[in-house]
Amino acid sequence: MFYRDTWVEVDLDRIAENVSNIKRHAGFENLYAVVKANAYGHGDVEVARAALDAGANMLAVAFLDEALNLRREIRDVPVLVMGPIRPADIAVAAEQNIDVTAHDLNWIEAAAGYQGVPANVHLKIDSGMHRIGVTNAESFAKACSMLDAETNLNLIGLFTHFATADGCVDHYQNQIDKVKAITADTDLSRFKYVHQSNSAALLRHPQQTAANGGRLGISMYGLAPSDEFELPCELKQAFSLHSRITQVKRLKAGDKVGYGATFEAEEDMLVGVMPIGYADGWLRYHQNRPVEINGKEYPIVGRVCMDQTMIRVDESVCVGDQVSLINDNITVDNAAQDLGTINYEIVCSISDRVPRVYK
Ligand code: PLP
Repeated sequence: MFYRDTWVEVDLDRIAENVSNIKRHAGFENLYAVVKANAYGHGDVEVARAALDAGANMLAVAFLDEALNLRREIRDVPVLVMGPIRPADIAVAAEQNIDVTAHDLNWIEAAAGYQGVPANVHLKIDSGMHRIGVTNAESFAKACSMLDAETNLNLIGLFTHFATADGCVDHYQNQIDKVKAITADTDLSRFKYVHQSNSAALLRHPQQTAANGGRLGISMYGLAPSDEFELPCELKQAFSLHSRITQVKRLKAGDKVGYGATFEAEEDMLVGVMPIGYADGWLRYHQNRPVEINGKEYPIVGRVCMDQTMIRVDESVCVGDQVSLINDNITVDNAAQDLGTINYEIVCSISDRVPRVYK
C-alpha cells in the first residue's frame, strides 16, 4: 500500500522473457540472476522469483545484507555474495546457507579456523579488472590449499569478472587467458561452479567453455550492457517510471519557475507540477528533458526540486493525468545518454522512496 502518485512499474514477464532468451543463447547449465542493489532498482525478491521461474537457478548479490534480505523470502536456491564479507560474519552467512567469496589470502587467513556451520566458498580470481581477487598462480594455489585445509569452509566455486566483455576483445581475451594460466595446474572439475560471464559476455561470447555458469545482471532487465556490440537477441526494458500531475497553473510572460528562478516564461504559458524529485533519484540533471503525458512529450522546466518537478504543459493537461518519465518511448537508455551516464546508473538511482509495482 502506498499513498503517493509516483511509482516504478516493473514488467516481470519481460524479465522472464529476457532471462529465458539469454539462457538459451548462452547455453550455460547454471545461471546466476544478479539481483544486487535491489535488483538494479527493480525489486530484489520479485525479480529473483521471476528470474528463477524463467530458468535462472541461483542468485547473486554484492553484500551480505542483500543476501539475508533475499533469504527471508527465498529459501531453497543458492545465493552468492560476490563481494568480500567480514570474516567475522561467515557464520551469519552460513547459518542462512549463503555462499561467500574468498577474495584474497589475508581474508582466508582471517577466516582460518572457522568453527561454525559449514560455509560454501567461491574463490575470486582477478584476471585483469584490478578490483578484488587473487592475481597469480601462486596465490591461487595457496588460496586453494589454505581453504582445502579448513574443515568448515567448502571451496565449491571459482569465478572472475570481465572489464571489457562489451568492448575491447583483446582485453577480454587476455582475462580468459589469465584465468587459464592461473588455474593451469588445477582440474577445474573440482569446482562445482565455475562462472565468468556477465551480461555482455553471455550475449557476445556465448561459446566460452571454461565455465559452467554465468552471472546475468543488466540484460535480465532488458537493458544492453553498452552500445559497443550488436545484440544477438531482443531485450525488453522492464522498468518504467510514472507520476501524476498535482497542479496546473498559468504563468505570465516574465514569471520564473523553481529554485534559482532559472526558467523564465517568454510568453504566457502553463506549468504542471508532479511529485517526484531528486530525493527519489530523479536528479537535477533531468532538467530540460522530456516526459510523456497522454502520448505527447513535454519538457521539464526549472530546477528539479527535492520532491517535485515542474513541466511546461498545454491546455490538454489536467490534474491527475499520468506523467511517464521513463517508458518504452522515453527509455532508460535515452535518460542515460542525456545525462552522460550508463543505463545501470539510471535504474539503480531511483530511490526506495518510490514504490515499485509489478505487472
Ligand atoms: N558479476 C559481478 C562480480 C558484478 O559486479 C556484476 C555487476 O556489476 C555482474 C556480475 C553483472 O554484470 P552485468 O550487470 O553487466 O550483467
